[in-house]
Amino acid sequence: GSVLEIKDLHVSIEDKEILKGVNLTIKSGEFHAVMGPNGTGKSTLASAIMGHPKYEVTSGSITLDGEDVLEMEVDERARAGLFLAMQYPSEISGVTNSDFLRSSINARRAEGDEIPLMKFIKEMDEAMDFLEMDKNMAQRYLNEGFSGGEKKRNEILQLLMMKAEIGILDEIDSGLDIDALKVVAKGINKLRDENFGCLIITHYQRLLNYIEPDFVHVMMQGRVVKSGGSELSKRLEAEGYDWIKQELNIQD
Ligand code: ADP
Ligand code: MG
Ligand code: MG
Repeated sequence: GSVLEIKDLHVSIEDKEILKGVNLTIKSGEFHAVMGPNGTGKSTLASAIMGHPKYEVTSGSITLDGEDVLEMEVDERARAGLFLAMQYPSEISGVTNSDFLRSSINARRAEGDEIPLMKFIKEMDEAMDFLEMDKNMAQRYLNEGFSGGEKKRNEILQLLMMKAEIGILDEIDSGLDIDALKVVAKGINKLRDENFGCLIITHYQRLLNYIEPDFVHVMMQGRVVKSGGSELSKRLEAEGYDWIKQELNIQD
């Protein structure tokens, strides 16, 4: 199994400190949810883990199985087994979805051990069926003109096929209708085993009705201020965040 450890992480954007000491440990086999009001730094956390150049880590550490993630290039992070589904996935014109997926899979494999084309096509076909995706999505340019729901399903397709060890899913539920939400949840649940752990970042409890997290963390003002089990997300859904602010004496 793998362990992603985030210790006392401080991150700034354009000299403004957004993350003010985040601590989180995600082990394979565990599903963690991070919830919190808008603007509290959830996406900043995801971007810092994946090495977005705009997000400057000013102190603290991120390690994967003891290896310093912050020292790795973005593609090395993916090769090491981290997968990030962005809140706003970017479009890549001229690269088909299928080609992108195959080269991403091969980048995770040893030189000379590329996935055989027929095996790849078969696996992609099965995964697309499972996610109820239109087959012509394979030959379209990556994310170009994809609807919000198609982008999210496509991120899950990548996740299913990439054999990542730790997945970071930033608002994978945003903008989805209930049917698409269920399909996305089905995809994530399919990965539930001892070799896979994930961090599900979400503003709403809705997705967590279909994916039972083992741990729920609440982020406010750049820190994880409270952690608990799935009962915590249910209480947030019912009561919002004010009670946590009061309990912890957090001012807006
Ligand atoms: P969340 O995902 O919890 O809604 P974000 O991490 O997106 O929060 O944002 C946290 C804070 O950082 C916000 O105040 C936001 O305005 C600021 N921020 C995020 N991204 C950028 C950026 N690229 N440039 C400037 N400020 C940013
Ligand atoms: Mg720890
Ligand atoms: Mg966000």
